[in-house]
Amino acid sequence: MVSINEIPESFLHELMPFFERLESIYFSIDKKYTKVADQYGFKCSGCDDNCCMTHFYHHTYIEYFYIIMGFKLLSRDLRKDILIQAEVVRKKSDMCPLNIKDKCILYKQRPMICRMHGVPHELNKPGIPTHYGEGCKLFMEQHGNKDCFSFDRTPFYFEMARLENELKDKIDLKDKFKKTVAQMLTR
Ligand code: SF4
Repeated sequence: MVSINEIPESFLHELMPFFERLESIYFSIDKKYTKVADQYGFKCSGCDDNCCMTHFYHHTYIEYFYIIMGFKLLSRDLRKDILIQAEVVRKKSDMCPLNIKDKCILYKQRPMICRMHGVPHELNKPGIPTHYGEGCKLFMEQHGNKDCFSFDRTPFYFEMARLENELKDKIDLKDKFKKTVAQMLTR
């Protein structure tokens, strides 16, 4: 795959209709997440088990190009600092390089898994039993004994997969995508 400097603005501009659909998926995720978190009374205000220190892989080109589009809008100095940090992170597996002073510098463009992490969830794939996942460490400490309010990730995964497949068809990509944010920025 080409480096981020080799991805032209014009190419990213062509993807705008895909980005708009991605934003719509993100909007639905945020709405559902907030509803479920509010039902528990759960608020994330940072903790020593920061999810930005979790070694998340992201699995779609669409989210990759969206992050790159946001990254290219940052100031030259900030981009330089983030790339240095991304190189360090990639080698040591540490804090996400987009986390600056405990805040995500590309909060609007943060990937799906960053948006969903925190509250317990379920996943319903055809033909296999429902998968249930726990909340983050802070959630489990504060609300682990409460009745479960369902945060079903399934429709969001399906919508994202449909969008990803359409994008790959359009730009003729065959490979599967799997990278951390640090890897997205450094290779
Ligand atoms: S993209 Fe943003 S929210 Fe996601 S891990 Fe990185 S800093 Fe945290």
